[in-house]
Amino acid sequence: MEKRTLAYWQDKAATLSIEGRAFIDGASRDAYSGRTFDCVSPIDGRVLASVADCGAADVDAAVAAARRSFEQGVWAGRNPRERKAVLLRWAALMREHLDELALLETLDAGKPIGDTTTVDVPGAAYCVEWFAEAIDKVGGEVVPADHHLVGLVTREPIGVVAAVVPWNFPILMASWKFGPALAAGNSVVLKPSEKSPLTAIRVAQLAHEAGIPAGVFNVLPGGGEPGKLLALHRDVDCLAFTGSTNVGKQIMQYAGQSNLKRVWLELGGKSPNIVLPDCPDLDRAAKAAAGAIFYNMGEMCTAGSRLLVHRDIKDVFLAKLLEAAKAYKPGNPLDPDVSMGAIVDKLQLERVLGYIEAGRKDSTLLLGGERVNASSGGFYVEPTVFDTRHDARIAREEIFGPVLSVITFDTIDEAVRVANDSDYGLAAAVWTANLTHAHEISRRLRAGTVWVNCYDEGGDMNFPFGGFKESGNGRDKSLHALEKYTELKSTLVRLR
Ligand code: NAD
Repeated sequence: MEKRTLAYWQDKAATLSIEGRAFIDGASRDAYSGRTFDCVSPIDGRVLASVADCGAADVDAAVAAARRSFEQGVWAGRNPRERKAVLLRWAALMREHLDELALLETLDAGKPIGDTTTVDVPGAAYCVEWFAEAIDKVGGEVVPADHHLVGLVTREPIGVVAAVVPWNFPILMASWKFGPALAAGNSVVLKPSEKSPLTAIRVAQLAHEAGIPAGVFNVLPGGGEPGKLLALHRDVDCLAFTGSTNVGKQIMQYAGQSNLKRVWLELGGKSPNIVLPDCPDLDRAAKAAAGAIFYNMGEMCTAGSRLLVHRDIKDVFLAKLLEAAKAYKPGNPLDPDVSMGAIVDKLQLERVLGYIEAGRKDSTLLLGGERVNASSGGFYVEPTVFDTRHDARIAREEIFGPVLSVITFDTIDEAVRVANDSDYGLAAAVWTANLTHAHEISRRLRAGTVWVNCYDEGGDMNFPFGGFKESGNGRDKSLHALEKYTELKSTLVRLR
């Protein structure tokens, strides 16, 4: 096999044909208005493609196609085994097109090609496979009832599911919605982020090729407008959202203003990573702490953006952390040796740099703090570490960039109080060799996922993923995710 070098991927990128049209009712289409927007690569600022800028007419067409396909039962009415077979074909096509999809994702979102080829695209295929494999195995219940009754409790597809997703893991986050939603028999309208629409558009074409019927899976690229219109649409039964807490709050309101569609939210985070003095392996913990905030340029909802370190080990631990941070050197994400790519766009770059400026005013900069490689035309920021207090702005607000706030504590109670003193509750971690402390602290942490002596473990589908508090409701991944895309029905059959 040809060695995958920077030049290899640059050559591939130069000849890549990029689809920018929406996918509605089984066909690639321009926006009805004819409007497009430029899809810009954060690697070098180059325009990759003109992408359909969908508006009201496109939303209506996609929702109507989804409704029609749902009512006709061309998907929902199929034996789950048949849906499974089609979904497995689709996943296989994603794997066949792995290089193409990974390249699109890297060009579009600035993510390292070493990650998109091993995490994002295989992860999306795996998600589809997992729910495909599950769907012909989960059944309903026959419940205890009066002797003259047969009582059934079943789950039915909810109908038309709209999925509105962010740009940090474009295809992976989308798959966490469309995998379970389609497996359960729904028809789906996916609205990718305007910052990273390309893989969603391409996988829709592959879905069609795999045999997903027209109207069952639609993709509407565009900005907030089509997202809002979907959330307000009276013929959308469920809106599954991953994105910022602010937009999530608006989406709940849109649902209330329209048809009370089911709303599922996976939102922001400011996750604490607590290191106790009896941490069993400080070197591993330091590497994990660096990965927790610098992996994917810190554009992680679960980013361990607050490092809570006990005063007794602070100096030793910080020395190890700063050493571990050297593994993250921003560079061209098409280079397979680069582990830190570009920030997704100029707006996000400015947001991150704005927080770094705020940090310089009230905190001590320990590492980084600068934009780099600006001559490339791309958007790169160094891994940045501040020693700060838990009430500093950089330690409270989600930055969604490679900026770590280190907070010192003296007691376990203080660590737990600081960890929980956040509007968010997505994830948390604790490092300790004491089993009792590990369990007690895990119970006290108000977060949807708690890692003990690790961070960001759990790449398989079995763990439900989602947040407490303003990090959202509902869960992606695991069989619990199917609950979001189904309605429960009680059927009571009187025998006499
Ligand atoms: P965002 O909220 O700005 O956008 C998310 C999506 O919503 C995009 O597709 C966008 O076009 C759309 N949108 C924007 N305005 C809208 C409106 N008024 N109505 C409907 N849709 C609208 O978020 P982002 O910047 O794309 O992503 C970053 C955020 O996502 C961070 O807060 C991050 O923590 C969160 N996130 C959460 C998870 C999770 O699973 N909890 C995973 C990844 C990212």
